[in-house]
Amino acid sequence: MSIYSELWSPKPLEIPQRSRLFCLEPIAVGTPYAESLSSYINRLAQAHCLTSQKLVMGEIAPLILKDEDQSELLSKNLSHLLGNSDAKPAINGMREMTEKLVTVLEELTRRQDLRFLTLLSWKGMIHDQGLFRNYRAWCPCCWEVWKQEKKTVYEPLLWSFKDVEVCLIHKQRLVEVCPHCGSSLPVMARTSPAGFCSRCYGWLGQEIKGEEEIEKYRVNIQGISELIVLTPQLEYQPIPIELTRKLQLISLVFEQAIEKDLKFLGELGGIIESLKIASIQNQNQPYHLVKLIIPVCEKAKISISQLFLLNFKNFVEILFKNFAIELKL
Ligand SMILES: [Zn+2]
Ligand SMILES: [Zn+2]
Repeated sequence: MSIYSELWSPKPLEIPQRSRLFCLEPIAVGTPYAESLSSYINRLAQAHCLTSQKLVMGEIAPLILKDEDQSELLSKNLSHLLGNSDAKPAINGMREMTEKLVTVLEELTRRQDLRFLTLLSWKGMIHDQGLFRNYRAWCPCCWEVWKQEKKTVYEPLLWSFKDVEVCLIHKQRLVEVCPHCGSSLPVMARTSPAGFCSRCYGWLGQEIKGEEEIEKYRVNIQGISELIVLTPQLEYQPIPIELTRKLQLISLVFEQAIEKDLKFLGELGGIIESLKIASIQNQNQPYHLVKLIIPVCEKAKISISQLFLLNFKNFVEILFKNFAIELKL
């Protein structure tokens, strides 16, 4: 047998299916610093040497707006697709357009993890109104450090949230205005390379000396971070009625804790009222993350992942143990 016939196999070579766009890996999924969808689109455009607008209008929009003339789409801008109000960080949230973008992008890149760059998994559970900023925000120190350490510069989903006002690592306030041209920067622009201003193209990273007082922001930021970390761990879409049951139980436990020891009244009295109103009136409505879920978890001494991932029986046990009260439901 010659060497040629030894190497030749009649079995056809298995070539994995090719994706239309690069199968670019999103950054830090499963950590508090998971990349945002808008950041991913911007990096994907850069990887193809395209502006974000060309990528979105040329490749993504035709699959979303099937009836429109494709040649005309290329001449239109991003706000034609996203709508003026949606060309905001809400695009990283749970809107209808977010869902369409993720579906099409997952199809084009053949990836299955792009929904974790948004809050889509929490649709119906968490209220998205007022949750996101209207413009980009960034920690100049993070970007400067990443650049110096030759890491990929990107925008974490965490920075899209209105209540994330500071960077816990650098103890700095997030910046919302370009220091070079004074502009507020839209989340999706014609071209918005991470780390640079989309108006004047100035570098936005900076080393800053001194530290801000950050303790008052810590609970909210840690709560939001926990939610981002938890997102890829959800094996199924959470069910609102299960959350309502757990919140009603927490309210009951708080009442029993106060009954047992009045010292809890000052700490838990206020939140019981909000809980009762929310869990009775809401039923299948989404809850406020920052106004309700995070403070309730803090007072109940449970983590966001315990609230969402534990089955009801284990949840009951932990909650009663936290307040050292007997189970009498
Ligand atoms: Zn930072
Ligand atoms: Zn600028």
